[in-house]
Parts: sequence; C-alpha cells; structure tokens
Amino acid sequence: MFGRVEFWIAVLAATLVGWVVAARVRRDSRTIRDLSLRFSALEEHQRWRSLTIRNGGSIGQLARRVESVILAFEAQIRRLESDREQLRVVLGGMTEGVIAIDNRRRLLFANAGADRFFGLDESAVGRFLPELIRSPQIQQAIESTLSGPEIHKGEVSMVGRDGPRSLTRTLAVHGSPLPGDPPAGAVFVFHDVTELRRLERMRQDFVANVSHELKTPLASIKAYTETLLDWALHDEQVNVRFLHRIEEQAERLNQLILDLLSLARLDSGDGTFDHSPLGLHESILSCLETHRGRTESKGLELQIDVDGLDPRTLVMADEEAVRQILDNLIDNAIKYTPEGGWVRVGATSTASQITIEVADSGIGIPRDDLPRVFERFYRVDKARSRELGGTGLGLAIVKHLVQSIGGQIVVNSRVGEGTRFTVQLPRHQPSA
Ligand code: ADP
Repeated sequence: MFGRVEFWIAVLAATLVGWVVAARVRRDSRTIRDLSLRFSALEEHQRWRSLTIRNGGSIGQLARRVESVILAFEAQIRRLESDREQLRVVLGGMTEGVIAIDNRRRLLFANAGADRFFGLDESAVGRFLPELIRSPQIQQAIESTLSGPEIHKGEVSMVGRDGPRSLTRTLAVHGSPLPGDPPAGAVFVFHDVTELRRLERMRQDFVANVSHELKTPLASIKAYTETLLDWALHDEQVNVRFLHRIEEQAERLNQLILDLLSLARLDSGDGTFDHSPLGLHESILSCLETHRGRTESKGLELQIDVDGLDPRTLVMADEEAVRQILDNLIDNAIKYTPEGGWVRVGATSTASQITIEVADSGIGIPRDDLPRVFERFYRVDKARSRELGGTGLGLAIVKHLVQSIGGQIVVNSRVGEGTRFTVQLPRHQPSA
C-alpha cells in the first residue's frame, strides 16, 4: 500500500513530467510560431535573419530542415533576381528595341528601345500588341512569326517624332517564335536602319549620277568621231571644230575623273594628307597668281585683301588641300561672274582663327538651292554648269577638305548680286 511519502513522490513525479511536457509543448509551439513568421516573411519577400532553433526534438529537427530549404530557396531567388536585373540592364541599354508577346499577342515585355520606337509605356504590358502598335507591317511580322517555326525577317516603316519634326524610321525586324507547337509566343528585335538605308540610297544615286555624267561626254566624243570618220574628216569647214569639241569633252571627262578620285581618296581617308604647319599668307597669294590671267581675260576685277592676315599665320594643313579649296572657290567665282564684275579674296586672322572669304558680284544662288550646293552633283543650273566645264563635285570636295582641316564653310548669296563663301580654319599655335 502507498504510504504518504510514496504518494508525495508520485505527485512530484507527475508534476515534473507535466512540467517537462508543458515545456516541450511551449518550445515546440515557439518553434512552430518562428517558422510561421519565417514563412510569412518569405511570402512577403522580406529580409529575415535565419532562425536559431534551440529545439532538439523532432519538431526542432523538422524546423532545421525546413530552414535549410528556405535558405537554399532564398539564395536561388536572389540569384534569379540578380540575373533578372542584369537582363533588364542589358536589354535597357540596347539601342535595339526588344518586344516579347504571348501566343494571344499580348505584350509580355518591351525594353526602353521598343518604348522609344513605338511610344510604349509601363501600362502597355498585358495589352494586345496590334492595338498598341497600329501597323499592318508589324501585324504581318507577328502573324508570320507566330505561325513558326522559322525566324521572320523583314523591315517596317514607322512614322515617329524627332523633337518637333515627324520622322519616318525604317526598322529591320527579326521575329523569333518561342518554343512550342504552336509557339508559346514570340520575341521581336527591332533595329533602326534608317541611316543605313539613307546611305544606301545616296550611294545608288551617286552611282547613277556618275554613270550619267560619264555617259554624256563619251556619247559626244563617239558622235563627233563617227561623223569625222563618216564624212567630215577632210571637210575643213568642220573637222577642226569637231576635234576641238572632242578635246573639250575629253577634258570634261578628265576633270570628272580627277574630281571622283579626289572624293574617293577623301572618303577612304587613307592618309591622303600630310597636315603640317603651313604659312597661309603665301599660299593664298601664290594661288591667286594662277587665276590672275583668267580674271583678266574675262574682264573681271580681282581684288585681294589680306592685310588683316598676320603674315606669320600658320594653319595645320596639307598644302595641296588648301590649294584645292582656294582653287575651287576662286574658279567658281570666276565662272559664275559675268564680264565686268569683280572677284574678291580676303583673309583675316585672330589669335585662334583664320577667316578666308571668296566673294563675287556674279549671278548668285537662289535661296532654296543654298543648303544643297555642297551635295555631290548638285548644280543650280545643270546646263550652265556643264557649259562652263563644271562637274558638280567642286563644292562637295571643298567642304570635305575644309572639314578634314578642322574648319567649316558657309555660303551667303543673293540672286543677281553675288555670292560669298566664308571658310573658317583653326589657327595653328606653334608650341612655345
Ligand atoms: P560646278 O562644277 O557645277 O561648279 P560646284 O560643286 O563647284 O559644281 O558648285 C555647285 C553649284 O553651286 C554650281 O553648279 C553652281 O550652280 C553653284 N555655285 C557654286 N559657286 C557659285 C558662285 N560663286 N556663284 C554662283 N553659283 C555658284
């Protein structure tokens, strides 16, 4: 039978067991509460220090296991987030536009380039792309890409804005279907080829112009030669005249080819020039001497005003380039000034700059033509230029040469009053 002592021992033992069990339950519930807080933090993407689990029981073991899974999971999320950020930065920094859509043609992603090309903003994500970009060419690119599996390649024209101006851009588009049959969506890369196409057009126009310019004198030479051979060779009334015509046309061809070679050398930029300090004063005066005869024979007054040019003025330039610039400008002034007029060449210098002016009292250039006279083969009056032996390339060469010396050229003119070309060049400062 139980005595009193045994009874109290039993009560004490039961209390102890109860206390131990209650402590365990408290510890386990604390662990479960910590874990639950940890899960909430994970769910809400909050940073959370990793759990310190002081629970040696099975719940503690489970919690430690769960905690290590959570840690691995968080590390994975951080990696993905950093990859996503990197991708965002790379795509954002691309000049190309990138657009991704799902197979219902809804926008999943557009980078900054695409926003710029198509005027998209953040609210565009999730919307129907053909509604966002109303272009039949884009529509066709979408359908062709989504019909997969090949990559779609094409070009689209988009009217956009460049500041206040409206601008038609040409965009090359590459559409790649996403995996799946049918494709789960598509990614489009848009590349701005406006400038490239413009240059291509210019090149094509240039080739067409060159062919035309070569064809005309060649056809004349051929015709005169045939006529001479047919009947005119011994006709003293015409044979010498025809031979002069042939000579003229051959000279025109020669001039054209020389100008084309100059341009080709300038375009290739392959060390054509030997820029070194050049005394400008003498260069201008010696160049003027070569034109004096022509001005006199045409009854033009040649005015020279280089008093404002410090005789020690140097320019860092190739002598031949400077001669070609002056020659072309003076030659034009003489060509386009009728008898009795004047041609004036002036030069001044400041501490840092040299200004050369070639002016005339000639026929002038209409206002609308002024911005274009430096273009290749641009002539205000084609027939007159040809008649005067012009190639339409002189001013294009001059502009190129001036720029190669680091200078700039502008033109002012009034029809019937005259024209003034102003060249500004940086003055060479010999080091002390
Ligand atoms: P071109 O060989 O025809 O003279 P340029 O390139 O030298 O070609 O000049 C382009 C056009 O600019 C000329 O055809 C002419 O119409 C115009 N031009 C150039 N210089 C003058 C000038 N001093 N006065 C009037 N027109 C000029």
